[in-house]
Amino acid sequence: HEEDKPKYPAGLSAKYTIEDKTLGVGSFAVVKECTEISTGKKYAVKIILKKVIAGKQQMLDSELDILTKVRHSHIVSLHDIFESDDAVYIVTDLCTGGELFQRIVERGTYTEATAADLVRQMLEGLVYLHSEGIVHRDIKPENLLFKTPEEDADLLITDFGLSKLLKNNNEILTTACGTPGYVAPEVLLGSGHGKPVDIWSVGVIMVRERERERERNYQNELFDCIMKGRYDFEDEYWGDISPEAKNLINRLLTYDPKERVTAEEALMDVWIVSDENKDIDLA
Ligand code: ADP
Ligand code: MG
Repeated sequence: HEEDKPKYPAGLSAKYTIEDKTLGVGSFAVVKECTEISTGKKYAVKIILKKVIAGKQQMLDSELDILTKVRHSHIVSLHDIFESDDAVYIVTDLCTGGELFQRIVERGTYTEATAADLVRQMLEGLVYLHSEGIVHRDIKPENLLFKTPEEDADLLITDFGLSKLLKNNNEILTTACGTPGYVAPEVLLGSGHGKPVDIWSVGVIMVRERERERERNYQNELFDCIMKGRYDFEDEYWGDISPEAKNLINRLLTYDPKERVTAEEALMDVWIVSDENKDIDLA
C-alpha cells in the first residue's frame, strides 16, 4: 500500500538508501540497514516514531545528546541524525554479528576465557561511559552487539534510550526504568540510583547466560534468587565453574550499590586479568 510507505526526510534519502531488511526491533524503535550512496558503506538506521515516544521528548533528547558525545571502541558510534514530522532517524555503525546471547548459542566451543573476554569488553565500555558521567540504565544482551560475525569480533554497547548524563558526580536518579530482570534492587526500591545499576546488570547477564535452562522453565524463581542479594550457585549449573568467576558475580551482584564494585574495579578482578582456570568448555 502506498500509504504504508514511510516518507523518509529528503536529507536522509539524498544520502542513504534504506534497505528493506530489518535488523532489530526494540521497545521504542525499528532498526534497518542502510547504504551511504556516496561510499557504498553500510550503516544501521534506528527509526523512532514520535508518536511512540509521545510525552517522552526528554528521553530522545538525552539519547541524541549522549550519542553525539560518546566515542569508544566498545560503544556504537553515531554518523548522522535526521528528523521528519513524525520520526527521528539515527544512523550508526552497523553491527553484523548479532546480539550477545544469539552468538553464544551458535559458538562451537565456549570457555571461561571467552566469557571473561566478553565481560571485559562490557566493562571497558562502562568504565568509559561512567567516566563521562553517563549511566546507561539498560545493559542487557539485546543492547550488546557484535561488530562482525568473526569469532573475535568486538562487542559494542548500544541503545542510549534510557541513558542519563549526570549533571554532577553526586546526582541521584529517581525515575524507575530499565528492563525487568536486569534492573538493580535500588531501582525497584526507589531509593535513588546511579552508575552502580549498570554493574548489577553485568552480573545478571553472567548468571542468566549460565542458567539458560532454568531461565526458560523457572524465570521467576531465577529472578527471585538474583534479587535476594546473595546468589546461591547451585551445583547443577555452577559445579564446573571456577571460584574466581563466582566471586566476580558476587561482587557485581552486591545488594548495596555503595558496596558494589565499580566498572574500574571489576576490570581489575582476577577472573578478568588472570588466564588460569579458564579453559573449561561451557558450551
Ligand atoms: P530500542 O531503544 O527500541 O530498544 P535499540 O537501539 O536497542 O532500540 O535497537 C533495537 C534492536 O535493533 C537491537 O536490540 C538490535 O537487535 C538491533 N540494532 C540496534 N542497533 C543496531 C546496529 N547498530 N547494528 C545492527 N543491529 C542493531
Ligand atoms: Mg534496546
